[in-house]
Amino acid sequence: MKSKVYFVSVNDCNDLDGVNKKLRILLDKSKVLDFLSKKSKVAVKVHFGEEGNTGFVRAEHLRVICDLVAKRGASAFLSDANTLYRGRRLNSQDHLELAHEHGFTKSVTGVDVIIPDDTKKDDTTAVEINQKWIKNAKVARLFVDTEALVVVSHFKGHILTGFGGALKNIGMGCATREGKLAQHCDVAPVVHSDRCIGCGACGSICPAGAIVLKNKKSAVDALKCIGCASCLAVCPTMAMFIDFNAGEKVQYKMAEYALAVLKGRKNQTGFINFAVRINKECDCWSMENPRIAPDVGILASSDPVSIDKASFDLVNKACGKDIFKAVHPEEDGIRQLKYAQEIGLGSLDYELIEL
Ligand code: SF4
Ligand code: SF4
Repeated sequence: MKSKVYFVSVNDCNDLDGVNKKLRILLDKSKVLDFLSKKSKVAVKVHFGEEGNTGFVRAEHLRVICDLVAKRGASAFLSDANTLYRGRRLNSQDHLELAHEHGFTKSVTGVDVIIPDDTKKDDTTAVEINQKWIKNAKVARLFVDTEALVVVSHFKGHILTGFGGALKNIGMGCATREGKLAQHCDVAPVVHSDRCIGCGACGSICPAGAIVLKNKKSAVDALKCIGCASCLAVCPTMAMFIDFNAGEKVQYKMAEYALAVLKGRKNQTGFINFAVRINKECDCWSMENPRIAPDVGILASSDPVSIDKASFDLVNKACGKDIFKAVHPEEDGIRQLKYAQEIGLGSLDYELIEL
């Protein structure tokens, strides 16, 4: 059966008031928040953007969403789990400060930001799913325990998964650092020394201290590597390689993690994708991150697979080609969606309703 995906077009993402007007129409007509019950607590999963990143969904739009949650008698808070790589979102205190610096303050959004601390046992949980790759998914407890979940995602490119939307926001985004490592652990790159010019760019960016220069050639310590793929992106001579079958595995594991987070929440989660400021890389990216597509719009659905497939189709239609394949030719991001459908997360078949 086809899932419904609602859509409003956006021409200029910098017109925050104009975008918010469209967002209200979308949330009102799609009824994507109507599953919320009165007095329920609602975790709104967002990505606050790494320091230096400008692609993340703006706090002003979260205000609209949280106000509409409140209008239904429920109360929202914003949340994201800490990262695996070293940056401003590695621990809960820095992550919270960065969220505030990026505008996610109570005066802007009307709600609190809660960052779970996965160094505390009480903030983490294991969800048994017994899938092909993951048996027990390690996720931040609040995404599982909070009565309702609303997932607000920025749709954009991604170096390992081709693109990232709702599935990535839940599967990777709600995992603890241990869970993120479980998803990335097959991705340690190797250096082709004949191409390496010893510039050191990879070692400077590596968040795990996994790269050393020996005899003016870099080498990766696979035991330290956390599989973030940042070194691939900065190497000027394309000397770093990963086994792209490993990238494929990340997509499968990520889908299984999404299954864990959504366990018991079928049709009880609202998904909102912002297909605007569509960059080559994800919102964890702190360096130059070129736009690869025009602004397309905002989508809403209760099906995470359909909303990502519809986002993918709309962006590619606007570009006149598969832009994600064009910028990340080694990755086929559709794998994550096909596998997500296979394990029962949703449907690739959707009905697009333009409002
Ligand atoms: S993928 Fe590269 S940058 Fe990332 S942790 Fe491994 S060696 Fe370091
Ligand atoms: S960035 Fe590339 S060329 Fe520079 S040291 Fe690392 S592997 Fe070698």
